[in-house]
Amino acid sequence: MKGFVRFSIALMTAPLLCGAALVVGYVMLVVLTIPQLPTWAQPGVEQWLFDIPQFAESSDNGSYGNSLPSGMSAVPFDGYVGPGSEIYGLPMIGPIQHWSDWYDKPLLGCMFQDPHYRSHTGADFPVNEGTPIHTTISGKVVWAGSNGPWGILVVVENNGYQVWLAHLSSVQVVEGQILNYGDVVGLSGNTGNSTGAHLHYGIRQKTGEQSAVWLNPLNFFSADEYINIGCSD
Ligand SMILES: [Zn+2]
Repeated sequence: MKGFVRFSIALMTAPLLCGAALVVGYVMLVVLTIPQLPTWAQPGVEQWLFDIPQFAESSDNGSYGNSLPSGMSAVPFDGYVGPGSEIYGLPMIGPIQHWSDWYDKPLLGCMFQDPHYRSHTGADFPVNEGTPIHTTISGKVVWAGSNGPWGILVVVENNGYQVWLAHLSSVQVVEGQILNYGDVVGLSGNTGNSTGAHLHYGIRQKTGEQSAVWLNPLNFFSADEYINIGCSD
């Protein structure tokens, strides 16, 4: 009887084990295949990866209302004013790596209020994790760490402007620290509400006691500084 029970259990679990093996096999196949795709096939993959709306980027609109997603904190203006408040250049320096390819300039994906992504509050730069990210303004670190859907976030402020660098993998500055232009704030990543490794670069301007607006980062650097690869549909 004992042998029969053991045989029955084996008979019942066999299909389950086969199913699990198939799922694991399929996941491994996808994980191993996507990075190996030829360059011409990768934009499609990328569009799929970036197709999930990053709602956090539109919900923190400066009104500081009660509508913040869970785990997300508003980043109020500190009021710091110091030397070198001009914002220019890009937060990463080429050559940069995306997938298995190297590019001499950063890649620009979804733009500010992109036609494919109207609610977008910044500019996205697809880049492999671990790329050094530099501040594009001298100023005070007013946020350094996790912030809900923004993932690991660094915000640098000066003279009514904030530079936001989101979805990082690690932070190399602390809140209150005064940075020079170009200092490394951390490494790029894929944290928070992000489905593919990229840097979200946002610029925010204080417009009143409790209000601020997002500015188009494209107005702070020039077209010869990046390679435009387009946004998802
Ligand atoms: Zn973004």
